[in-house]
Amino acid sequence: MGLLAVSKTWPAAFVREAAAAGQKAFGENYVQEGVDKIREVARPDLEWHFIGPLQGNKTRPVAESFAWVHSLDRFRIAERLSQQRPAALPPLQVCLQVNISGEDSKSGVAPRDAPALARRIAGLPRIALRGLMAIPAPAADLAGQRAPFCRLRLLFEEMLREGLTLDTLSMGMSNDIEAAVAEGATLVRVGTAIFGERNRS
Ligand SMILES: *Cc1c(COP(=O)(O)O)cnc(C)c1O
Repeated sequence: MGLLAVSKTWPAAFVREAAAAGQKAFGENYVQEGVDKIREVARPDLEWHFIGPLQGNKTRPVAESFAWVHSLDRFRIAERLSQQRPAALPPLQVCLQVNISGEDSKSGVAPRDAPALARRIAGLPRIALRGLMAIPAPAADLAGQRAPFCRLRLLFEEMLREGLTLDTLSMGMSNDIEAAVAEGATLVRVGTAIFGERNRS
């Protein structure tokens, strides 16, 4: 299982320190902060993942600077990323974000629409579709946390049976990592438990 260290809000020095301890993959939520930090850290051996909401007018810096995007939920955005991905770089690795708890306010494709969207995205030349990502609604106990991760895994397995080639289940953060691992996460995204509490003001 892979560990993505979510370094959003933390300065480049924190990334360097984690990298010195052997961490290779880092996650960022905000385009400008991420691009600036990637440039400042300046370590080509690190792998940068964009995990935040992505608008159409911000796709270019993401396509040019990141190795992965976890938060893809619209074909139009995928198409732009594919067009803007520099030819000198490998294809952009992406996960579809699924609105697994069915929250009105949350981004992510509805589970029933995920297979069709995945098939369209898989056909784009400069995109490599790798799997699914979700951020479930908070739950009170372990069983409540496991349920949405279980649904995401079942959707993932259904899509594999339909012939899509996927290998990544990006699920689990500091507060629900145990539940996600129990349900088969292949990549957990952890910020607070590595770097400490972010300033929430
Ligand atoms: C901030 C964030 C994380 C990490 O959250 P923690 O609770 O700090 O571990 C993981 N995934 C996404 C999409 C995030 O925005």
